[in-house]
Amino acid sequence: MRWVFVGASTIASQYMLGAVRAQDGGEIAWVVSGSAAHGAAWAAEHGVPNVTTDLAEALADDRCEAVYVSSTNEKHLPQAMAAIKAGKHVLCEKPLAMRITEAAGMVQAAEEAGVTFATNHHLRCSGSHRAMRALIAEGKIGKVLSVRLFHAVHLPPHLQGWRINDAAAGGGVIPDITVHDADVVRFLLGEDPKRVVAQMVASGMGEGVEDSAMSVWTMPSGAMVMSHESFTHPFAGSGLEVHGTEGSIFANGVMTQEPVGEVELVTAAGRVPVEVSRHNLYEQGVSDFYSAVAGAGRAAADGPDGVKSLAVAMAVRDAAKLGQAVDVDYGDIQ
Ligand code: NDP
Repeated sequence: MRWVFVGASTIASQYMLGAVRAQDGGEIAWVVSGSAAHGAAWAAEHGVPNVTTDLAEALADDRCEAVYVSSTNEKHLPQAMAAIKAGKHVLCEKPLAMRITEAAGMVQAAEEAGVTFATNHHLRCSGSHRAMRALIAEGKIGKVLSVRLFHAVHLPPHLQGWRINDAAAGGGVIPDITVHDADVVRFLLGEDPKRVVAQMVASGMGEGVEDSAMSVWTMPSGAMVMSHESFTHPFAGSGLEVHGTEGSIFANGVMTQEPVGEVELVTAAGRVPVEVSRHNLYEQGVSDFYSAVAGAGRAAADGPDGVKSLAVAMAVRDAAKLGQAVDVDYGDIQ
C-alpha cells in the first residue's frame, strides 16, 4: 500500500516511517507539511519522494490508498475528513480530535465512505499489554477489583513545544497521555469507564495547560481505576497493576513506545514472571491496520476506540475543572 503522511512530525520520523516500510510493499509516497521548508527538509532526510503544502495535491494521487495523520491535534479533523472524502483509508493519531462530536463525525464519515479508519494507540499493540489482557480474560486473577496506572514521565526537550504551551493545538497532558491510559484500561478490562473524579495542575512545564493529572474512574463492573499522568517526572518510571480476587498482575516499565518492561503474576501459588512478545508496537499497529483494510481482521484500535479514549480524557479534564464527579459522555458511539 502507498501512503500519504500528513504532518512532518517526530512520531512519523521516529516510529511510523519504519513501521510502514516494514510491511510488505509499504511505501510512503508523499509528506504534507504546513511549512514548505520543513516539509522539504523532512522529505529529504527520510527519503520521501514527494512533498507538498497542499493536502489536496497529495490526496489526488490515485496510486495512494492510505493516509497517516500525525499533525498537531487541532488539524486531525479537517485533514482526516479530507482524506476520507478522497476515498483513502486513514490511520489517525490520538487524540482523534479536540471534541468528542468531531471525532464521532470522523468515524461516521469513514463508515459512510466505506474506508478503514483507525486510531494510533500503540500500547494495546505491545506484547506486555496483550499478555496482561489474556491473563485477565482467562480468569487468572479472578474478578478484577482495581487497576493502578503509573504514567508520569518526563517530556523530552525536543517535544516541549505545543504540548506544554498551546491549548489551541491540543496541548496538555490529559489529551496527550490520559487518552492512552483510557485506551489501555478499555483494552485490558473490555469495558468502558463510567464516572471520573480528577485533579490537574501545572507543576513546572505547563503554560496555560495542565502538565500533571490524577484521576479515579469507576467501571460498569464495579472495578476502580487510579490513573496518574505527568510531563514533569524524570525518575518515576512507569507501570501498571491489575488486582483481582484471585491474583494480581504487576507490570513494570510498560507504559512506553518500546517493547520493554517486565510483567509478573502473583497468586496463592506464588510470584511468576510472565513471558511477553518483544515485537515492535508500531509495526504491529500498522500490520493490524493492513488486516482491517484487507477485511481480514480488526484495526488494533478502531475509530470508536479513538472516540472513547477521547471521551474519557475529556471527562477527566472536565472533572478536574469542575471539582466534581463527571459521567463519561460517549455520545452515540457503542
Ligand atoms: P511534533 O511536534 O513533532 O509535530 C507536530 C507538527 O509540528 C508537525 O506535523 C509539523 O507540522 C510541526 N513541526 C514539527 N517539527 C517542526 C519543525 N522543525 N519546523 C516546523 N514545523 C515543525 O509532534 P509529535 O510527533 O510529537 O506529535 C504529533 C501527533 O502524534 C500528535 O497528535 C500526538 O498526540 C501524536 N503522537 C502519538 C504518539 C503515539 O504513540 N501514538 C506518540 C507521539 C505523538 P506540519 O504538520 O505542518 O508538518
